[in-house]
Amino acid sequence: MEAKILTVEITGPRAALVAERPEPSAAGDVVKVQILVAPMCTEWQSWRAGKPGGELGHEAVGVVVDAAQSTRLKRGDRVIAMPHWGCGQCPACRAGEHIHCTEQRDLLAETGSRCGLGGYAQFLLKPDYLLFPVPDDISTDHAAMALCALGPSFTAMQRMQLSERDTVLVSGCGAVGLGAIVNARTIGARVIALELNPYRIALARALGAEHVLDPRAPDLIEQIRDLTGGYGVDAAIETSNNEAAPPVVLELLRPRGRLSFVTWSGALPVNRITGKGIDIFGCWHWNHDRHGDQMMQRVRDARPLLDLLTTHRFAMDAVSEAFTLQETGHCGKVLLYPNGVAS
Ligand SMILES: [Zn+2]
Ligand SMILES: [Zn+2]
Repeated sequence: MEAKILTVEITGPRAALVAERPEPSAAGDVVKVQILVAPMCTEWQSWRAGKPGGELGHEAVGVVVDAAQSTRLKRGDRVIAMPHWGCGQCPACRAGEHIHCTEQRDLLAETGSRCGLGGYAQFLLKPDYLLFPVPDDISTDHAAMALCALGPSFTAMQRMQLSERDTVLVSGCGAVGLGAIVNARTIGARVIALELNPYRIALARALGAEHVLDPRAPDLIEQIRDLTGGYGVDAAIETSNNEAAPPVVLELLRPRGRLSFVTWSGALPVNRITGKGIDIFGCWHWNHDRHGDQMMQRVRDARPLLDLLTTHRFAMDAVSEAFTLQETGHCGKVLLYPNGVAS
């Protein structure tokens, strides 16, 4: 009889269940990982919309159970699984920027498996070069923050060369924005945040945001100027994905400020970009090939804040409860445990 594994599937609007799927198998450099923790990201939006299907989740930390022909990893290695299935050969992949690869591999065809692409499951398949070994002194839950919680804003702050001399604006305090506050405070920068949700305002403050302002306030520009000696913030990161946010955030920057997007919505007026001389960066994820050690040090330095950021933990069979919570926004980063909640 074919071996089965448990995975989450969406069956309709606000309906999900744990289903059995055929166990995937490793082959070549495609490694099989038992998932210890799957940080939850935006999958709840597919659940709300009732977008049917499985293979949910692009964030995972687990342990290698079958290394196949990999020479980089062995059975028992604890690893962070990076998103997607970049080819490993193109200019973007060779620079470690696998997230921007346009030649994604088809792991199911390569291994003859019928599942194994999603993190909301007991096992995952991944090319070995997209698995980053977790140092022994870093816990599995902390390693799980080195995906979407810290990753996009880690890259943004690197590219903006954010330092302790800077005041940074964090637009939106969902899990990515809260992670941006953790990164900025660990660097030593001063943080001003924009958020409406009372739970997230309180969490942003607890993580070290000096001020959390209402993004709809008619005098927002004046408030920011009052807090920055009249000039505006040195740097900003847009995480809200609100269509209206980009031009507002642009106006809150000082001349020659730096602006990063980890979002996908909205537009900017070119005359204001040029007029203010703004440096703009598009940041999707982080580069584990080039900056893995720096990221692991960031995780170590941020430990107490990461414990605050991780507000909820669920076993996989409670995934509907977890989605319901995420829809309220009364949470920071939420962790799902496909093989049982770690004690
Ligand atoms: Zn590639
Ligand atoms: Zn994510």
